[in-house]
Amino acid sequence: MIYLNGQFLPLADARISPLDRGFLFGDGVYEFIPVYHGKAFLLIEHLQRLTRSLEAINMKDVLTAKQWADIIHTLCAQDPAPAQGIYLQITRGAGPNRQHAYGAQDLTPTVFAMAITLHLLSDMERKTGLSAITTPDTRWENCYIKSINLLPNILAAQQAYTRDACEAILLDNGYVTEGSSSNVFIVKNNMLITAPKSQGILWGITREFILQLAQEKNITCLEKPISESDLQNSDEIWITSSGREIIPITKLNEKIIGTGIPGPIWQQVENHYQYSKEKFLS
Ligand code: PMP
Repeated sequence: MIYLNGQFLPLADARISPLDRGFLFGDGVYEFIPVYHGKAFLLIEHLQRLTRSLEAINMKDVLTAKQWADIIHTLCAQDPAPAQGIYLQITRGAGPNRQHAYGAQDLTPTVFAMAITLHLLSDMERKTGLSAITTPDTRWENCYIKSINLLPNILAAQQAYTRDACEAILLDNGYVTEGSSSNVFIVKNNMLITAPKSQGILWGITREFILQLAQEKNITCLEKPISESDLQNSDEIWITSSGREIIPITKLNEKIIGTGIPGPIWQQVENHYQYSKEKFLS
């Protein structure tokens, strides 16, 4: 069962117009919210980002926080999996024809949501870490908008996939921006470093949460540019997102990072992340 424009219905029965501007142009935004044991994690933060994305493309909020919470609850109640995510997407809607400009009158937005089971780190991956690659960031300047227009991210992710890596880390003029679907942290000399917030990256909810957790653990955190050589010579690399939490990267472009196993700062922040999640759930 999925949610589409006010209705819950089986995926196979869901229909949208071929003139939907999301389908024709990628004219829309999305969110992905983790849901643990039926409770949406950091929901307000995700909904605030949704509002920011909508405003940035001249659209208004379509549902209240309470309406979203009810939809999330109904969709997640179908599946007993302890870790799920809600994918939600809002497009500008279907116009009368295929014109780039959407005109003066608001269309009726298309609102879609579905639940997805999360696949978090396995016990083996926690011991070994995962691989990532680097590739140029060929995206536009407004990546803070969580736009459904993801072609450069898709091509980068596919490159990672074909090289048996779990993520492509994007480099803009020799500096790390973020991953194709994650933010990037490095550890150097026990300091945690991530790229500063700018319009060129998505303001990850997990990124923000980790900065808070690290502070609580008295880990020095710096939001400053990370060069390609900083990345290669780091002691630890992590990629972070709501769907995958905190992933330790132990190989970059087939070369070993740090000691080749997930590092002690990752372990410390990961423990605190899981503890904070449990606290939120209790
Ligand atoms: N950057 C990009 C490009 C992403 O797609 C994601 C995943 N939504 C992130 C960063 C991480 O954001 P969050 O922690 O809010 O999931």
